[in-house]
Amino acid sequence: AACEKPDVDAAVAAARRAFDSGPWTKMRPNERSRIIWKIGDLILKYTEELAQLESIDNGKPIAVARGADVVLAADIFHYMAGWATKIEGSVLDLSVHYTPGIEYQAFTRKEPIGVVAQIIPWNFPLLMAAWKLAPVLASGCVVVMKLAEETPMSGLFLAQIMQEAGVPDGVVNMLTGFGETCGAPLAAHPNVDKVAFTGSTEVGKLIVKAASNDLKKVTLELGGKSPNIILEDADLDVAIAGAAMGIFFNHGQACCAGSRLFVQEKIFDKVVAGIADIGKKIKLGPGLDPSTEMGPMVSQTQYDRVSGFLTSGREQGATALCGGKPVTGNGYFIEPTVLVNTNDQMKVVQEEIFGPVLTAMPFKNVDEELIRRANDSLYGLAAGIFTTNINKAHKIANRLKAGTVWVNCYNIFDASMPFGGYKQSGWGREMGHEVLKNYLETKSVCVSLGAAI
Ligand code: NAP
Ligand code: MG
Repeated sequence: AACEKPDVDAAVAAARRAFDSGPWTKMRPNERSRIIWKIGDLILKYTEELAQLESIDNGKPIAVARGADVVLAADIFHYMAGWATKIEGSVLDLSVHYTPGIEYQAFTRKEPIGVVAQIIPWNFPLLMAAWKLAPVLASGCVVVMKLAEETPMSGLFLAQIMQEAGVPDGVVNMLTGFGETCGAPLAAHPNVDKVAFTGSTEVGKLIVKAASNDLKKVTLELGGKSPNIILEDADLDVAIAGAAMGIFFNHGQACCAGSRLFVQEKIFDKVVAGIADIGKKIKLGPGLDPSTEMGPMVSQTQYDRVSGFLTSGREQGATALCGGKPVTGNGYFIEPTVLVNTNDQMKVVQEEIFGPVLTAMPFKNVDEELIRRANDSLYGLAAGIFTTNINKAHKIANRLKAGTVWVNCYNIFDASMPFGGYKQSGWGREMGHEVLKNYLETKSVCVSLGAAI
């Protein structure tokens, strides 16, 4: 259960064998495509099993696991099945004339990078595994994945699904265990060609160091402190519901959570009161109870971390319009919280809380003030804009330093839409065809055609 260095070595060796001499790399793209599609189908077939495992492990409401996590996980496999047969290079007409009369023709090949190490977090255990594994299979790579120690069950079940779909032995290897004793030796392993990590910015920096020994390729999906912006001309019902969902979805344990709310001065009181009303009505409870709308934090550590932020906010002068407290007693519950009387310098406004805690601030002027404040973060993962003015929506979207901008909506994901961060929110993108770049090398082949025929 708690894999260590020898287990990592064995998994990497299995992956290396599968890449160097197994049937996988000899398979035709359409055969890989059919297997990847089948994984998507089987995820849907096992919706109930996967949703229960996810809810038990992570604490999220089972309806959410069923309707969001499982559906989106199946979707990325179906989407990536199509890409397996569409990986192509290009033919290049060269201009060089080193030797008069000699012509050259060149082309590029896209080749799988090799053995990939992937490390994922606990907030969307199945979905994070799916976002990472589907493009690995489409590109023809092999993988060793370390699941989050808090939530290994859906990933192990997914590995079983992959066997059932026909993924050959050694192509996908799952490790359970802790970051320091399992993740770290994996990220530094000399037989790994590429590391793809999703998790905190702090650990992301450790991954870069671990991978730097032999200059492995690295992509990172890290933290966020995303601004959600409501202009005074917004449809307030849409904006209030969108802002509430932006922070309370998945208990705020979402890297792209819209956790810094900027509301134009005139409508500030009305908007924050509306979000607080929604927060007060959210029913906390165990994930498997069908009436639960928000489950507990994933762990004691996370409960303590979010509680600490609530204390810090209070000490620095913030006030809570709803929530503001951890629930004492049974379980790691935190009340949905809206903090006002906050400012851009407070710890609760600058740091990623990763809990159901919104910090709300008024702004006056869009052009000078809002854009500067919205971009005043070391992160740049996502942003939201609520307005009925299409010109403003586009102009603001263009100026935000964020990998995803949602307009009049929030937390909309699709397998076709690249996701990832500016600044310290990461390197590279997941999803869309862009993600394939993470797992492919480009080879130029140059052929001399000799002198004229
Ligand atoms: P974390 O502490 O960074 O852990 C992420 C993963 O890294 C876990 O599997 C963890 O192992 C492992 N790990 C820890 N130390 C390591 C080390 N020294 N070497 C190698 N691996 C190590 O993050 P988390 O608390 O699980 O997740 C929350 C964070 O993830 C947030 O910051 C959130 O924003 C970010 N996130 C980002 C995205 C995105 O797409 N941008 C998506 C989801 C989450 P353990 O199992 O022992 O913890
Ligand atoms: Mg952890």
